[in-house]
Amino acid sequence: METQHAITCDALVVGGGIAGLESALDLADQGFQVAIVEKDATIGGKMIRLSKVFPTLDCSSCITTPKMASAAHHENIRILTYCDLQTLDRVDGRLQAEVVQRPRYVDPDACIGCRQCEYNCPVWVPDAEQGGFTARKAIAIPFSNAIPQLAVIDTDHCTLCGQCASICPTDAVDYFQKPEPLTIRAETAVIATGFGTTAIDPKYGSGTLPNVIGALEMERLLAPHGPYQRVLRPSDGKEPESVAFIQCAGSRDKALGVPYCSRVCCMYAIKQAMLLSGALPLADITIYYMDIRAFGKGHEQFYQNAKAMGIEFVKAKVAHIGAGDDGAVTLRYEDQEGGEGVTHRDHDLAVLSLGILPQWQPDGVCPVSVDDDLFIQCPSPKIAPARTDMDGVFVAGVAAGPKDIVDSIAEAGAAASEAAQYLGARQAQRSGKAA
Ligand SMILES: Cc1cc2nc3c(=O)[nH]c(=O)nc-3n(C[C@H](O)[C@H](O)[C@H](O)COP(=O)(O)OP(=O)(O)OC[C@H]3O[C@@H](n4cnc5c(N)ncnc54)[C@H](O)[C@@H]3O)c2cc1C
Repeated sequence: METQHAITCDALVVGGGIAGLESALDLADQGFQVAIVEKDATIGGKMIRLSKVFPTLDCSSCITTPKMASAAHHENIRILTYCDLQTLDRVDGRLQAEVVQRPRYVDPDACIGCRQCEYNCPVWVPDAEQGGFTARKAIAIPFSNAIPQLAVIDTDHCTLCGQCASICPTDAVDYFQKPEPLTIRAETAVIATGFGTTAIDPKYGSGTLPNVIGALEMERLLAPHGPYQRVLRPSDGKEPESVAFIQCAGSRDKALGVPYCSRVCCMYAIKQAMLLSGALPLADITIYYMDIRAFGKGHEQFYQNAKAMGIEFVKAKVAHIGAGDDGAVTLRYEDQEGGEGVTHRDHDLAVLSLGILPQWQPDGVCPVSVDDDLFIQCPSPKIAPARTDMDGVFVAGVAAGPKDIVDSIAEAGAAASEAAQYLGARQAQRSGKAA
């Protein structure tokens, strides 16, 4: 399938989150050769980092890990992590991607994932995988079920003390590793680059209030393998007695830069509130919302269950969060049903439903169009939701717009099916020409 710096395959999948993995597996199971290009050091996307998933409350990593392992062990799938996509365009009738393999400073063929380097490294740094709530070493495997199990040196913090190199049983540490260019030629591609979130707005205390966190950080606090193995308040490690979830703290608000609805926040906030009430049965939990959007299968019942559990729902747009006493945060909001007008309430911890943004922009990289909200454009969303305006290039998951896991997987299946049809047509065309 490949030479040292060039790979030829049937399908290129950009992004190794749940949508990209699903498309890759669907195509590979049909016998097509697939290359997945992932920018992170591990595949799995956001889903591997979630606690449990709505509306079933299944353990997220228990569902994602087998998918990751299936992709990694599939004979028709080649996974390239820690790679930057430079360009993706059509060259001589085929798609051609120019990719740069970033240096891990660890030889991937020699590293056996034993973590001796990590245990021996003297430098501790904040662990972004755990929301920054705990620390990891300057050389580390991203997390215990990361795929591949390869260590990466964090060059921002490494002091070049040499302790990792001296302990490594396979001499895998290579401080002189260089970025390596790689060309991937494919007939078709699926873009599954997913999402990031908006930053915390200054009116919600960005950077100044440690007890105001984003929902992805709350996912880590709730995860069984999270930073503390229980929910503690970041500023002082206290168990919060009262927690506020603030909806539309980055979406449906032009002033915050995102006019559209992020679609998953109502349900994940309800999920987090339910999990929290299990973890902290005595805590008061309040969701501040504009309106609850529970449109998916089983979602309305999920919402009703949360109300029955005693979670309080306050119809209000929170205008401001300030510092209260003893690390508390003070919310200023107008209660739209209670008739109290503008009012204030203190909580030990506030969790923001931040806006969902496209994680990748094709600008200058690939001639595929984006829509007004900068997600990949689908010219025929009703009849061909996975098709883009670039011949042979399809889209899956949140790269095309905010959506939950169920819809991401369904769309990934559609993208794989369209890509397989496209590959079949190309093969027929070529054998017709040859005959
Ligand atoms: C706080 C929170 C909780 C949630 N909880 C739930 C839930 O309980 N249930 C549910 O159904 N949904 C939930 N969701 C939504 C869910 O996370 C998404 O539906 C799902 O992760 C989408 O998968 P994806 O593969 O499209 O994107 P992602 O998970 O974002 O994966 C995209 C992948 O592409 C990679 N990538 C990006 N750019 C590039 C590039 N240029 N080159 C190569 N690779 C690239 C990324 O590194 C990433 O690995 C939640 C969302 C949030 C924010």
